[in-house]
Amino acid sequence: MLVVMHASATPEQIEAVADKIRQLGYIPHVIPGATRTAIGITGNRGPEGREVLLMMPGVEDVVRVTVGYKLVSRETHPEPSVFPVAGTRIGGGFTIIAGPCSVENERLMMQTAEFLARCGIRLMRAGAFKPRTSPYAFQGLGVEGLRILAKVKAETGIGIVTEVLDTEHADEVEAVADLLQVGTRNMQNFALLRRLSQARKPVLLKRGMAATVEEWLLAAEYIVSGGNRQVILCERGVRTFADHTRNTLDLSIIPVVKHLSHLPVLVDPSHGTGRAEYVPAMARAALAAGADGLLIEVHPDPRNALSDGMQSLDLEAFARLHASLKPLADVLRVELL
Ligand code: PEP
Ligand code: MN
Repeated sequence: MLVVMHASATPEQIEAVADKIRQLGYIPHVIPGATRTAIGITGNRGPEGREVLLMMPGVEDVVRVTVGYKLVSRETHPEPSVFPVAGTRIGGGFTIIAGPCSVENERLMMQTAEFLARCGIRLMRAGAFKPRTSPYAFQGLGVEGLRILAKVKAETGIGIVTEVLDTEHADEVEAVADLLQVGTRNMQNFALLRRLSQARKPVLLKRGMAATVEEWLLAAEYIVSGGNRQVILCERGVRTFADHTRNTLDLSIIPVVKHLSHLPVLVDPSHGTGRAEYVPAMARAALAAGADGLLIEVHPDPRNALSDGMQSLDLEAFARLHASLKPLADVLRVELL
């Protein structure tokens, strides 16, 4: 259920309704809106308590939310969410997050951060902890990688997006990251999702490689229902019969997610195609499809990258792509952040 308060409801009336919801044995989630506050209710099995709540001062209506992913749904929160991240924002514009697949060494990270800053990019991606298909592949620098990211952030001011692979290292990653990435293989790692529901940093939740839209939104609901409202989704391609690209980048899910949920959604055309030459076309397509931004792999020397070199743009190719997005954003009347 969702309690819709009057536009003129006072903070005391909102708190009284939240208290009543707790007395009923449910959990209230206060959702401030542009014109009015709503209070989402979870933990209830049906509409019990609806009458009591309807009679309280300041309450305009109590409506049923028909979908399972209640707090991330448009029914609960009609306006699109916008989250501030490291001096920029995600939502209500087109935000680009770029950088290498992995943190490889300090020199490479500094070079990339300085280049991105010159392009006006505010957020850099790079994994310190890497989820690799093979146990023999480069697993990332781990804690040493976090130290490098912290140093590059301190020296350049760039915001850091990096993956949190397990609950064990969540504190250390949270201390450095401005945005906590959950990888495709972890989308349904419920212990990790619960831990991140306690985080004070926003979470970038990648779609599982075989996840339906409902499974994806329910994974987001784990984080939001636990208390962390700042969830950003990221489509990165799914498994299909097609083998002409690494994954099948499912851009058709963008308008669907936008319809069902208020959360921002990014597109990762790097993992979505697996080949640098196909990345620019899909990056522009993501902008046209209504995505809120990109997560894109960029490396100063892709041929010698320790992971995902084939799908990483070199600096020049990234600069060209970036320049090509501007006129497109203008035509679409989207703000390039
Ligand atoms: C990555 O972003 O480098 C990554 C490992 O992504 P995914 O979880 O989508 O495979
Ligand atoms: Mn990668």
